[in-house]
Amino acid sequence: MDICEAVSSIRNKNKINIHGYLMVKDKKRNNSYYWYCKKRDQLRCNGRATTMFTKNQYHLVKFTDHNHAADASQVKVVKSLNLLKEQAQQTNDQLVQVIQSVLAGSS
Ligand SMILES: [Zn+2]
Repeated sequence: MDICEAVSSIRNKNKINIHGYLMVKDKKRNNSYYWYCKKRDQLRCNGRATTMFTKNQYHLVKFTDHNHAADASQVKVVKSLNLLKEQAQQTNDQLVQVIQSVLAGSS
């Protein structure tokens, strides 16, 4: 069984990389997660996947073919964006702390 890599940020776990295809979470039943192709609407793609979530990992159970090629660069882009968002979030938090400590010191 293949292990699939979630490509979402910590706060937004709704995308996964399955064989280089970016999939979006559709629904969840018990430990089963159902995914559809991110390009479903754009390309009328019927690519779907089912994974089991065990031991903190997504294991591929079922996979249907896409009508287009896998796009690993797209997965990379999403991962980079998520990383950026997380770093921006952390920077924001630090900024808030700095402001709060300055305000606390000035009162
Ligand atoms: Zn597809």
